[in-house]
Amino acid sequence: MQAAFGVYDCRFHLQDGFVKILKTKLTNWAVAVVVAASFWAVVVERLPAAVGDLTGANSRREVSLGQTDLVTEGKSDWKIILRPNATGPETLAAQELAKYIRAITQAELPIINAASPGPHEIMVDSAEGGRDGFDLTVTRDRITIHGHTPRGALYGAYQLLEDLGCRWYYIGQLGEVVPMAASLRLPHQTTTQSASFRERSVMVAYPFYYDRFEEWIDFLAKRRINNLVIYGQSLDWWKSTRARYLPLLQARNMILEFGGHILPNFVPRQLFELHPEYFRMNEKGERVKEHNFCPNSGALEVLKNGVREYFAQLPEITYFHVWADDLTDGGWCRCPKCRALSPADQNLIAMNAVAEVLAPVNPQASLALLTYHDTGKPPNGAPATNLFLFHAPRERCYRHAFNDPACRRNREEYGPDWQDLHALFSKTAPRTIHEFGYYTDGLLDREMQPPQLETIPADARYFRSLGVPVHQNLMVCFRDWRSPPFSLVLFAQSAWDADVNADAALENFCRQYYGAASAGTMTDYYRKVDEACARLFSGDPITGPYIDMTWPPLEPAMRKAKIADAQAAKKIHQALPAQLEQALKAAPAGRFAERLRREREVCELHQLSLELACCQFEGQFLGWQCVGGSGRADGLRAVELLTDGCTWADKIIAWAGRFPEEQKNYLPGWESYWSSYSKVFTDLQKRVREKLSNEK
Ligand SMILES: [Zn+2]
Ligand SMILES: [Zn+2]
Repeated sequence: MQAAFGVYDCRFHLQDGFVKILKTKLTNWAVAVVVAASFWAVVVERLPAAVGDLTGANSRREVSLGQTDLVTEGKSDWKIILRPNATGPETLAAQELAKYIRAITQAELPIINAASPGPHEIMVDSAEGGRDGFDLTVTRDRITIHGHTPRGALYGAYQLLEDLGCRWYYIGQLGEVVPMAASLRLPHQTTTQSASFRERSVMVAYPFYYDRFEEWIDFLAKRRINNLVIYGQSLDWWKSTRARYLPLLQARNMILEFGGHILPNFVPRQLFELHPEYFRMNEKGERVKEHNFCPNSGALEVLKNGVREYFAQLPEITYFHVWADDLTDGGWCRCPKCRALSPADQNLIAMNAVAEVLAPVNPQASLALLTYHDTGKPPNGAPATNLFLFHAPRERCYRHAFNDPACRRNREEYGPDWQDLHALFSKTAPRTIHEFGYYTDGLLDREMQPPQLETIPADARYFRSLGVPVHQNLMVCFRDWRSPPFSLVLFAQSAWDADVNADAALENFCRQYYGAASAGTMTDYYRKVDEACARLFSGDPITGPYIDMTWPPLEPAMRKAKIADAQAAKKIHQALPAQLEQALKAAPAGRFAERLRREREVCELHQLSLELACCQFEGQFLGWQCVGGSGRADGLRAVELLTDGCTWADKIIAWAGRFPEEQKNYLPGWESYWSSYSKVFTDLQKRVREKLSNEK
């Protein structure tokens, strides 16, 4: 189709707002001319930064001379053409094009079903199979969007809209950037893109994201996420809501994962009276009904019967998560038959049994073998062929990339196990490997939003180099984010294109989202947030989980380092409100200012969270020292710090109360989460006070 119109093969580099054509190749009727093209600048000026973030080897764009007028002064004779029997994503692609072109220019482009093309048409079609990607071609009379998959056609449409200046950074109207223009003009070009990962996935965790699930489905598809993990929602919830969500998910060919820490539910605890042998034996040799069960008992048959019925009710799910209890240790069986087996071994026995049931019920689906906390080590034994590796290194260091040789924690604690797991699954269960990251984890990050400018793209490049097919990210926090977490934007971008340039992506985001006048200030602001957070969320080389509230660093030297890190992060943040004020002063009233005000509120939360961290790290350190006999001065200072810690927790609780409309459904969870910090502090204070009064 391209040959009919003639295509120049002109590589371009966008530099300082104009196009340099570096190489031209003449075909057909065209005459090659090398120009420092001003046509692009025309479009760029009217529609800010009309170039997407095309940096990777999997993104190729060739621009030729000439331009196509899609809309002129609000009028257009262009049509959007769908083939008969167009797939769901192709149909949605056409609808999205019509919707956003109308939003930009008020011009109406009709959507027409036609087999044979004519002039002034945007043709949308796709192939089957392959990896998500597309060819987007703009010629004088025709724009074609050819998806390498049906989803690829939808992403091609979004690329065209990005070329016209649209962006999507968060759910809702404020989260999207839609320019206003009377005319739309595009340079003649061919763009080819192909995803770095077969599947790009976000786990939507915690119930309140499901209050606006339609918007999240829409937004994540716009970020080219093709796999959604519905986490922690019950079977009943899904059965009662899927009629509403499935059409939206299917229109985007979204791959679905479903489940959570639900394994113990399939061995009902009421059976304990009749069959104590089904249950776990603890360290003391007692059978107890808390947590999981004995995998070398009749419990396995009970489990298999339970999951059979469960799987049968979920035919639309591709990946199942039937995980054991969420524990760092002590959840598995110590009976004579199990004693020699590690938690990872016992978990594998249970998962192989569940996988055996899944195979005939849903042969296309597979089941997660979660390697996480106590099951993080490679198991002995072969995983069933329909198990997939769900690698979730929760306590890894996020300051450094997973393969960064400078990071002892990742290198020593995670590297060897990861290699072994990778080898094990490549051999016995080659179906797939899911690499799960905690890039947008409000629990790990203390409700802060670290951008992770270096780690996220470096991880993506590493996992792509190993051929990991599914790259995933957890999205969780106890509130509405209010301002887009840049790590979510960057994750989606690097999962699509692992060669993404994070600096360019950040600059682009700041320019588009906060406006040109504030872009420089905001880019610098995010870099400083990143610097502060990188210090705080470094897990290197502390032993044990490093960020959860009850787990301050264990070794004294590391505790001191962490206290210093928290104080340094706090100091960096102290300068940030002034920077945001400066950005606000420069921004015109309206959306840019509203977005900046929201980011200012997030910055306030960062400050409160850091104040709490400083009190916690030092207060708990001194408190435990005092309890261990270090003396009165430590104890008195600890009491003071822990009291302050409780005050900061109260202030954080009050922070969310300022936005009752947006946060009202989340407030109970928010309050109970931060109150648990206060409880930890108060308990330690009590012990310190007892110690001090005994010494009197
Ligand atoms: Zn046992
Ligand atoms: Zn590290």
